[in-house]
Amino acid sequence: MIKLQNYINGELISPVNDNWLDNYEPARGKVYSQIPDSDADDIALAVEAAKAAFPSWSKTSIDERHDCLMRIASLIEEKLDMLAAAESRDNGKPLKLATRVDIPRAASNFRFYATAAMQFSSEAHPMPGMAINYTLRQPLGVVGCISPWNLPLYLFSWKIAPALATGNTVVAKPSEITPMTAYLLSEICIEAGLPKGVLNIVHGLGHKAGAAIVDDPAVTAISFTGGTKTGAAIAAQAAPKFKKLSLELGGKNPNIIFADCDFNKMISTTMHSSFANQGQICLCGSRIYVQRSIYDQFKEEFVKRTKALTVGDPADPETKLGAIVSEPHMEKILSYVALAQEEGGTVLAGGHRVQFDGDLADGWYVEPTIIDGLAPGCRTNQEEIFGPVVTITPFDTEEEALELANGTQYGLSCTIWTEDLTRAHRMAENIHAGIVWINCWLLRDLRTPFGGTKQSGVGREGGFEAMRFFTEPKNVCIKYG
Ligand code: NAD
Repeated sequence: MIKLQNYINGELISPVNDNWLDNYEPARGKVYSQIPDSDADDIALAVEAAKAAFPSWSKTSIDERHDCLMRIASLIEEKLDMLAAAESRDNGKPLKLATRVDIPRAASNFRFYATAAMQFSSEAHPMPGMAINYTLRQPLGVVGCISPWNLPLYLFSWKIAPALATGNTVVAKPSEITPMTAYLLSEICIEAGLPKGVLNIVHGLGHKAGAAIVDDPAVTAISFTGGTKTGAAIAAQAAPKFKKLSLELGGKNPNIIFADCDFNKMISTTMHSSFANQGQICLCGSRIYVQRSIYDQFKEEFVKRTKALTVGDPADPETKLGAIVSEPHMEKILSYVALAQEEGGTVLAGGHRVQFDGDLADGWYVEPTIIDGLAPGCRTNQEEIFGPVVTITPFDTEEEALELANGTQYGLSCTIWTEDLTRAHRMAENIHAGIVWINCWLLRDLRTPFGGTKQSGVGREGGFEAMRFFTEPKNVCIKYG
């Protein structure tokens, strides 16, 4: 059985303690590889390597850093099919999705930040006749990047690329649930000639390897994406050490559908925003609010299309929903379906585990599920389920829609469907969310700030926001008059 290795100081090595964790293939519910069960000893080695590499990498010319990151991007593109197959097998997502979205976006993250490094600038503030201030934007040093399982290589690279582009050295930990493409990235970095120690990838559990990264005094900043509870634990651990933090956390995103929307465009995008990646995208719209005059029409069409979605082998091109990432996560999703019924909801579609025969018999599959009849404040409508489960609720007025949309502790994203331009702007201004999509979903411009408000996170990624996060401003004031 293949054993993935840590990537430390430019080499692929086993964990110091020689302990290993099983890695499962969700489509089949079977162990297919092992990963290091790393601990503080491995993190110490990674941090040492990153510290040693920092003086040289931070002074490497921007051209050279750019070229290095571009080589990584090109290699990801060259190996797209292999990486997509690995990601689909590791995560359970449809191969088509990994091929069309996840892996190309990982490559574009490296490409974007390679070129952003060439454009990143700082300010000067002249005091006429007296002095000039200029601001240096300097890399922080060794930074920690910790990512989740839902978009494994894409979110991993979303942090690593800006950290490296700005001259930091990195200790990174992918999710222990989906380690494979991060491991393959280690091989790519070796092939691309990334200098040793600049990027170190350590595998293992969050409370061991992850916590050791957060704890290490030499790690000056943590860029974390994952659950809100984990984010709170990391914040509590990092705050007394005054580490810089970027926390991208959970969501319970509203999808607000007004009667004047373009129904056909709305319904086909709503299928994606509800069930893409088995609903395991932090930006999925899991609370759907529909204006009452089109509620029945919407319900009928949405239920019909949802029942027609194919759940199956992620490798099959006809599959629309693949496997759920792990058995405990599948159980959690199903427990929310049971809870929704206890809370008075009606399951209009789905609601069950899908059990196949043969090769996929032990895989973890859940039907795409629609629930209606729930009160806005109930747990099903308040807590993040992070699976193929959505609730639908009617509303009458714009004010009511806004109140419903803003009525959770989360504030990551929101989708609004309307052809009324003034209403779209009004709603966008008043929604509590870091990202508002109007008549679209998941459209991405890498230059824009990305992140959430309230319990969905602190700080922003994306564009120059990430470059600013990974650098420290230093003002230099020169008096000449
Ligand atoms: P998680 O919080 O369980 O784990 C995320 C990462 O943190 C993993 O690598 C894990 O090993 C590590 N970790 C766990 N405990 C740790 C600790 N004490 N110290 C340091 N590291 C620790 O999240 P998950 O289940 O992997 O991912 C799903 C969650 O991620 C959902 O809540 C989803 O909304 C969120 N998410 C948010 C965004 C966003 O941009 N806001 C994007 C994707 C996913």
